[in-house]
Amino acid sequence: MPELPEVEVIRRGLAKKLIGQTFREVCRNDQRLRRQSEAPALAGLVGRTVSRLTRRGKYLLIHLDDGQTFLVHLGMTGRLFLLPAACPLPSHVHLLLECQSGQRLIYQDVRRFGQLILYPAGVTPAELRQVGLEPWSRRLTPEWLAQKSAGRTRPIKNFLLDGRFIAGIGNIYASEILFAVGLHPQKPVGQISLMEWAAVLQACRRILARAIRAGGTTIANFADCEGQAGLFALQLQVYGRAGEPCPVCGTSIERLVLAGRSTFWCPRCQPATLATPTEGRNYQSVRG
Ligand SMILES: [Zn+2]
Repeated sequence: MPELPEVEVIRRGLAKKLIGQTFREVCRNDQRLRRQSEAPALAGLVGRTVSRLTRRGKYLLIHLDDGQTFLVHLGMTGRLFLLPAACPLPSHVHLLLECQSGQRLIYQDVRRFGQLILYPAGVTPAELRQVGLEPWSRRLTPEWLAQKSAGRTRPIKNFLLDGRFIAGIGNIYASEILFAVGLHPQKPVGQISLMEWAAVLQACRRILARAIRAGGTTIANFADCEGQAGLFALQLQVYGRAGEPCPVCGTSIERLVLAGRSTFWCPRCQPATLATPTEGRNYQSVRG
């Protein structure tokens, strides 16, 4: 599933070629995506020129010259790319936007969990209200994370996946971040120290930036806007590597399921949380 780095790679690639292009024609097929604007609304794209492309979390936003915003979420298997006029269309094309250059902007989605919604000028997409802080936001600090997680018992892995706090982290990068900082994925989030939060934040920024530079991670079908696979999969330390030796200590990497998602971790580098020392407290009270 595309996460922040993959969406950012697509944004950067498309920005070079799509800004300044005017859409001449819109075609969509009849199969429904998870969420999408109806055909009459999508006709509002015709004649409009792309002014800029931005990203929030895993959402890509195509801004048009009349103030409309076209929101794209790639879901599980969505791909957004430009196809030269002469190329035959691939299968599972849900939306085709023909540009004045003759190139076509294609949205393809085999499993159809994606979202394509056109918002009128002056309207902020409702989806963005739920999106947390961008990883590089100055407001995102260890103190902010400690405050948001105080008293909570949910596992750190689930907290990282919850886009209402840090935007854009999915299953792959959550496993990689926790391995980088040596935290067990099930550690209750309320027990993470300020120093540990600082390490998580640093690893999060470093790993996501590295993934963007590598063109994202291709596990199944991700490709950038020119059909190139991302190469960060070669740098993954634990994700998808159950049974393989840990690159740091050689212990066999394990897989567990948290919130219905596969989590990969090294039992030695990411030891389970020690139980709170209730025995010690009882001993003290007896002595006291
Ligand atoms: Zn290890």
